[in-house]
Parts: sequence; structure tokens; C-alpha cells
Amino acid sequence: MENKSVIIVGAGLGGLATALRLSYQGYAVTIVEKQSNAGGRLNTFEKDGFTFDVGPSFFSMSYEFVELFKSIGEPIPFELNELNPLYTVNIAGQDRVYQIYKDLDKLAAEFKDVEANFEEKARKYLIGAKQIFHDTEYRVVKKNFDNIMQFLASMATVPLKHLPKLFRTFWQELERHFDSEEVKIIFSLVAFFLGATPFNTPSVYNLLNYTELEHDGYWNVKGGMYKIVEGILPMLEKKGVKFIYNTEIVKANYTSQKLTSVTDQFEVDHTADLFVINADAAWFRGKFLNRAKFTEEKLDALEWTLAPFTIYLGIKGQIPGIHHHNYYLGDNFRDYADTIFRSSVAPQKPYYYVNVASKSNPSCAPEGCENLFILCPVPDRRVKPNWDDADTLVNEIIEDLGNRVGFDIKNNIITKTVYTPIEWEKMFNLYRGSGLGLAHGLNQIGAFRPKNKDEKLNNLYYVGASTVPGTGLPIVVIGSKLVTERINNEYPII
Ligand SMILES: Cc1cc2nc3c(=O)[nH]c(=O)nc-3n(C[C@H](O)[C@H](O)[C@H](O)COP(=O)(O)OP(=O)(O)OC[C@H]3O[C@@H](n4cnc5c(N)ncnc54)[C@H](O)[C@@H]3O)c2cc1C
Repeated sequence: MENKSVIIVGAGLGGLATALRLSYQGYAVTIVEKQSNAGGRLNTFEKDGFTFDVGPSFFSMSYEFVELFKSIGEPIPFELNELNPLYTVNIAGQDRVYQIYKDLDKLAAEFKDVEANFEEKARKYLIGAKQIFHDTEYRVVKKNFDNIMQFLASMATVPLKHLPKLFRTFWQELERHFDSEEVKIIFSLVAFFLGATPFNTPSVYNLLNYTELEHDGYWNVKGGMYKIVEGILPMLEKKGVKFIYNTEIVKANYTSQKLTSVTDQFEVDHTADLFVINADAAWFRGKFLNRAKFTEEKLDALEWTLAPFTIYLGIKGQIPGIHHHNYYLGDNFRDYADTIFRSSVAPQKPYYYVNVASKSNPSCAPEGCENLFILCPVPDRRVKPNWDDADTLVNEIIEDLGNRVGFDIKNNIITKTVYTPIEWEKMFNLYRGSGLGLAHGLNQIGAFRPKNKDEKLNNLYYVGASTVPGTGLPIVVIGSKLVTERINNEYPII
């Protein structure tokens, strides 16, 4: 009997991880990808002798990658590298740098001048964060839900002691434990990954502080993040997975119960028994399936994560005083957080993240040079559609960074590439340029998030940032496991 055929639309990490799981079980997988290579946001490019990671530069929960390869009986095809320190934080107006360590003794030494009894307070704070992580991991995150009742029933099994955390914000929780602005600001940075600010994120998400500071920390990959994709591709090829690049799906063809084919920009129809959509799960439903719940108007009313504004610089010379992962913050955290999602002008005195991959991977820059990836989160294109003023923001960041690290960056640029939210939207069909997809407020998780199984078409599934469980590299890997479980149950290989 012929293997069941599956078309995966999109070769992002969600699509690739699903292809791995399915092809190793015997499904016949084809991946159709709009770009000329695999990886989606987890991508790379080379320019003027420099190699840049396009998007992600580190991740938590490295064991999800370990689980992925173990599940298919293959060795992990890249070398994980634990970050130590996790990152550094520079706050404007302070001439010191905070090194953020996973080791609490070391972290306490960093904060000894700003927070009395830091270690004791941090240990107490992390106990609550740890409990909520482990109490929700299998009940909420790593589980498929068929309907809202099932989801609420599972939520009801989460111990009641966590309930007050639903009514406090992330910031309020930090205020209960710490006095200094510095500790509160630094611990609250993770809230921005969820697409919100610490002032409107429920405090249950302080579980993210547990994941970074105690549980598994942060990791990257030796040789650059794209090694993940380069490691996966030969395995897929070995299992006969077919790749169709430079091909964008522009139409879905369906009956009342089944997706019959997807059509690309060359008007070629691609047919299969099953389809898995790795493009944005909310956008796809609105754009190609005409679903009333996902019209542009409805999508615009949802909460989306911030858009990326990214700058890739090849620099002549070695920059002292900058580390591998660095945050550069201003001195108006609350005001900045309050306006960042709403402002239709580019941020003044921007807050930004800088990754210097050449610090630990010299092969990505010519000798004596440094490669910089700068990420400044900005409002998505609902709020700021136009980026004619991109140069102003680029110049402001380059000047600010140069001043902070005491190095003339501006006059040592060998190569410069800038992606505004417009490029991000175009490259990967990211809705309104939102970098991480749908946000993770309590009304947009679990059964309230676009499902990984279509509501009407029974051979159509979804994987990736805007379906369950959510965004981030390890989370979309979990998503690939959840969607594979559904497919195994509904269309098993016999
Ligand atoms: C700047 C930036 C920095 C980030 N940093 C981190 C980080 O440090 N750590 C972390 O864990 N996460 C990070 N993330 C988030 C992480 O990149 C994403 O959560 C993850 O890569 C999403 O994977 P995915 O498979 O859902 O989607 P994608 O990577 O977007 O893949 C979807 C694929 O589908 C293709 N596609 C879309 N529409 C079509 C179509 N119609 N036809 C054919 N193909 C189509 C796209 O081209 C794309 O290749 C970052 C994201 C950004 C943007």
C-alpha cells in the first residue's frame, strides 16, 4: 500500500520538524516553500565575507531539540552550546554592565550593590515560577485540545494556589519580591518575547524567568544557528522528502470537508492526502479559506507580537566591551513599554538587542572583523505601516551603540543590511510584519489560539508560531509533536 502523502506549506522550523517526524514514520512528504531555501525566520545570509543569522540567535528548552531527534532515532546533528553568561544588560546613564548568569551566586554578586539580599529573594521568587512551569507544562502547553471545554477542564487541574497570579501583572509580581528598578527591569525583559509588556502580562509568565535562570538556561549552536537547518536537511533527504523552493501557495482548493489541493503562483496544483500549513495559521485561514473569524478586520483586532527592525553590520576591527548577547536599554522603561506597541513613529532613544556571533564563532567574520546583528522591536504595520524613516532609526542605533561601547562603529562599517517590518512581512508572509506571530495573552493560548487541526477540512493541519502551543524555536518543535500526534491518530500509517 502507498504511503500517505503529505504536503507541508512552508519550510520554517515548524514545517521541518513536522517533516522529520512524519517522514521517519513512513509518510511521503513534500515541502513547498516560497523562499529559495529552508528555515523560514531561522535563516542565514552571506555578504561581503560575513555570515549572518537572520532571526533567532538563542533559545531556551534545548531538550525539545534532543527529544525531536531521539523520537526519530537519529543523533542530534548540531552542537548545542550553553550561554554563560546568559546575556548582558546595559542601562542608559549607568556606566556598568550587568552580566546575567544562571548561577544565582554569581548573579547575586552582580546585583549586590542594587538589591539587598538578592539571592534569598531570587530563590523565593523562582520557587513560584518553577511550580507554575511544571504545573502547566503537560496540562496546558504540551497537549492537544479539541474544544474550549476540554481546555478549561485541563486548566482546572492546575493547582488553585496559582490563581492570584492571573490577576497580577508580571511587574506586580516582581514588585512583591524585589525593590530595585534594575532587577525588576532585567527580570521583566522576557515578557516582550510574548508580545506584551510586563505591565500587561499576567504574572503566570514569570515561569519564563525559571526557564532562563534555573531550568535549562539559554543555548545557541556552534557554528551559527543555521546549523540546525543544515543538520535537518540531509535527514529529510535520506527519507525521500521532496523540496519545492521559490514556490508560493496562493490559493487553496477545497470541498466541504477536504482540502483537495493548493495552487502556486505558476498556477500549478499540488495534491496530497494531507496538508500541514506552516505559514501563519490565522492569516492562512482568512486569506485562503475565507473564514469569517479570520478576516483582516478580525486579525487586526487580535494581539500580535512586536515587529522586528533588524540591522546586520560587518565591522572592521574588534569591538571591546561588547559580548555575545547584549541588551541596550534606555532610562525610561515604563514610558517606553507603554508606548512601544502604540506609536506610529519610530522609537526615539530605541531599546535594542545586539548579538555578536563572531565573539564565539570567528568563522562568521573575516579575520580582525566583527559581525553584528541588531534587533530593535518596533510596532507592527497596523500601527506603523510606513518605514520611509528607516535610516533615522538605523543611524540613531549605530550612533548610540558606538557611544556606549566606545568604538567608532559608523566609520568602520564594511557591510550593512536592514530589514524593516515591511521586508519581514514580505519575506515570510508574517502578518503585518509581526515577528513572533500571535501574542500569548490568556485569551490567545490553548484552545483560544488558532488550532493545529482545521475546523472544517478534515485533512488540513497547522504547525508553527501562530498555532498551538505558540512561538519560539523550542515551542514550535513542541507544536510539531502535537500536530504529528493528531495526524497519527486520524490518519495512521497502516
Ligand atoms: C528577528 C527575530 C528574532 C527571533 N529570535 C528568536 C530567538 O532568539 N529565539 C527563539 O526561540 N525564537 C526567536 N524568534 C522566533 C522564531 O524565529 C519563530 O518562533 C520560529 O522560527 C517560527 O517558526 P515557524 O516554523 O512557525 O515559522 P517560519 O519560520 O516563519 O516559517 C514559515 C515558512 O513558511 C513559508 N511560507 C509562508 N507562506 C507561504 C506560502 N503561501 N507558500 C509557501 N511558503 C510559505 C515562509 O517563507 C517560511 O519559510 C525570532 C523571530 C524573529 C523574527
